[in-house]
Amino acid sequence: MSTTADSSVAAQTAYEPVIGLEVHVQLLTASKIFCSCSTRFGAPPNTNVCPVCLGMPGALPVLNRKAVEFATLAAMALNCRINETSIFARKNYFYPDLPKGYQISQYDRPLAEFGYIEVQILNTGGTGDHRVKKIGITRVHLEEDAGKSLHEGFPDSDEKTAIDLNRTGVPLIEIVSEPEIATPDEAYEYLTRLKEIILYTGVSDCNMEEGSLRCDANVSVRPRGQKALGTKAEIKNVNSFRFIREALVYEIARQVEVIESGGKIVQETRLYNSHEGKTYSMRSKEQAHDYRYFPEPDLLPLVVDEKWKAEIAKTLPELAEARRARLVKEYGITEYDAQVLTVSKSLADQFEAAAKAAKNPKRVANLVQSELMGRLKARGIDIEQSPISMKGVASSADLVESGAISGKMLKDLYDLCFDRGKDFPQVYDEEGRPQQSSDTSALEKIIDEILVANPKPLEQYRAGKKTMIGFFVGQVMKASKGQANPQFVNELLVKKLDQV
Ligand SMILES: [Zn+2]
Repeated sequence: MSTTADSSVAAQTAYEPVIGLEVHVQLLTASKIFCSCSTRFGAPPNTNVCPVCLGMPGALPVLNRKAVEFATLAAMALNCRINETSIFARKNYFYPDLPKGYQISQYDRPLAEFGYIEVQILNTGGTGDHRVKKIGITRVHLEEDAGKSLHEGFPDSDEKTAIDLNRTGVPLIEIVSEPEIATPDEAYEYLTRLKEIILYTGVSDCNMEEGSLRCDANVSVRPRGQKALGTKAEIKNVNSFRFIREALVYEIARQVEVIESGGKIVQETRLYNSHEGKTYSMRSKEQAHDYRYFPEPDLLPLVVDEKWKAEIAKTLPELAEARRARLVKEYGITEYDAQVLTVSKSLADQFEAAAKAAKNPKRVANLVQSELMGRLKARGIDIEQSPISMKGVASSADLVESGAISGKMLKDLYDLCFDRGKDFPQVYDEEGRPQQSSDTSALEKIIDEILVANPKPLEQYRAGKKTMIGFFVGQVMKASKGQANPQFVNELLVKKLDQV
């Protein structure tokens, strides 16, 4: 290692990063937050607009009830306290994609506060074990989205910027974390858990490509042990969690280097260039007072009373963390498989529905674990792209349960499903519903031959070593090329072995 690298590592360990995240999540309402325009993504530019969201003089906002319910539900899932009364405020700034000249948001009295997300943090020391860390959520508030500036894709794009105002007035929640995130990895974990929680509540599709989940990161560094926070930079508009982690790694190193070389960090907004892996200064960061916040005069205070809150709370589903713990307990699967099965609520629902409908729910779980996961992993396929559906797993489990197919036949059929990209019932039909050999006379013949060929084990069995039955079952299964029904073989064997 070169001296430069050595000293930079030393410098980095002498400093402690402090990270806070601001996440904007688009709510899945059919209409916008203050008017009845559609929120549909992909509509032709400037078609989902009206005087209200275009900010025409005299147009008045009317709050969307569903947006409030979704925001409250999300805040509850994030363990927040819901404030009975919250206030909408105008955040004033000039930007071409903001026709009103202000954004309706919430400021000093937000919808919800004091929440937290639990994340698993890898313990230091390389033991591989985890601990749980609570990262505080300062607030969850409602606001409207701005429009979109289009800098590319038009013949005159080198000179002009086009504006699409379809997104103007689309309902968002902003989820602000406490500055309690200590590393880029923790930030990644926090975002992963946050997205999972929001997806489980169903209030957003969290689609990052379509902008329904956007994240800004505030980061500063301070000498380890110092109480006061350093000056922070804000990294904006990073479009994947992986890039956020990379941007933070770069930015922390940059700040340490600036301070170490005698410079000062300026409060600013920076953009991350994922091709270069670097952040660039975009503009000096506004302070809150630059926005001249004041209460929105066209909207009444928002009141979510106890009764409404209770109604919303009833729609709160079991969240991923709780569900994982329950799946492990109820179906006896591993933590890892529970993790995979709860990757989305719909997959977890499918699994449980299939397992419950099957004759033996645990067998479904076993098959997912022993036969499905490995094949998915070997082919690098996500469980959600699995050719065999949860229903397919359940129907195969029932066939094994009833003795219609053997474990060996199930494995072969699973391989065929993956080769053909088809679900289990379909392949089972195509293969002519192979019947297990329960042709008694054929099996009896095989058994007789095996007993003759193995006098020693036979002697041991008859001398009282009953566990030898396993050896004989294995031999018969092998001789029948896995086509025999093991249970049936067992019965026949017992009969034959016991007649002396
Ligand atoms: Zn509108």
